[in-house]
Amino acid sequence: MISKKDLSDLFGRLAAKNRVVVPYVKGERLHFGDFDPKKEDVIELGGIRQSQPFKSFINPAREKMTPCGKDKKPLIIAGVKACDLSSLVLQDFVFQGGDVEDPFYTENRNNTTIIAVDCTYAKETCFCIAMDGAPYPRKFFDLSLSAIDNHFLVEAASPKGQKIVDDFRPFFKNPSLHMVDIRQTLRDRVSKQVQGFIDKRGTQNTSQIKGTVKKNYDLTEFWKDMASTCVECGACNLVCPTCHCFLLSDEKDTSGAKRFRSWDACLYGTFARVAGNHNPRRHLHERLRNRFDKKFEFFPEVLNYFACTGCGRCIEACPGDIDIREVLKGLVVGKWSKPPHD
Ligand code: SF4
Ligand code: SF4
Repeated sequence: MISKKDLSDLFGRLAAKNRVVVPYVKGERLHFGDFDPKKEDVIELGGIRQSQPFKSFINPAREKMTPCGKDKKPLIIAGVKACDLSSLVLQDFVFQGGDVEDPFYTENRNNTTIIAVDCTYAKETCFCIAMDGAPYPRKFFDLSLSAIDNHFLVEAASPKGQKIVDDFRPFFKNPSLHMVDIRQTLRDRVSKQVQGFIDKRGTQNTSQIKGTVKKNYDLTEFWKDMASTCVECGACNLVCPTCHCFLLSDEKDTSGAKRFRSWDACLYGTFARVAGNHNPRRHLHERLRNRFDKKFEFFPEVLNYFACTGCGRCIEACPGDIDIREVLKGLVVGKWSKPPHD
């Protein structure tokens, strides 16, 4: 275990050779930012997931496609929540799982040490448990921290995580077995809260959702109703920890030509457009349907994994009030109403 005070000192020591990123409270939300000991009182290593998806550190919104990295400081990012950790299955599959590994992604991934934390409460938009997740880290982290009073229970899950513990041993003390029991009680409490939100709304789970997009693929009236308030802003794609589609662009300035990779969004009208102006998903409802098809049919089929972690970010971000839980419910129960909007 480590005390809150020692953890802050540890971040300070780590920041000498690494870029250390932590979550800060800003209004009602959490945002990632570089560790600054002067802002210690607004660091939150608990709470819920940050507004910004963790993917933006390993698959940045805009990245120059030229070898860099040599002078890049290693990144240590603390406060990553379970719903962002789950998204790594998808990101790793897309950028590392094919015949050719993406060297930029791999470099970012290898350069990053993940310090995960338990959620200490859930909000109404959280439904990680319905997507086979949990509000605490289970895998894909190097170190995990569970807040208990003025301490954190620490778990090292990789050689990178263990190295931090070994290199800074005096900061860490042996916990009592009692702390492990308290952690379980706290985890059960937040899980119960998430399950309560799921039950209250009748949010569907993965076994109920399985196969329903395929079954209702030609229910055009349904997809049109669901897309009726979409304004094609792409926010649902951009905030989603599992979305990974990108666009390459070449730009030229006085120093020469450069290639950039930027996040793309499958809700954009031009997303699927190809040469000759042919567009297989010309209509908005086709693009919305494609988003659900990919998340809830394609990935379960090829990876046995749903491409939604239940983080709820798209629900908060959508200016058209399209709630992914309501779309899925409409598909499963066969009854739906248009998204409410004034
Ligand atoms: S969806 Fe689950 S893991 Fe994500 S913030 Fe909410 S409670 Fe935490
Ligand atoms: S689809 Fe929505 S709820 Fe699911 S992971 Fe993406 S942003 Fe989160």
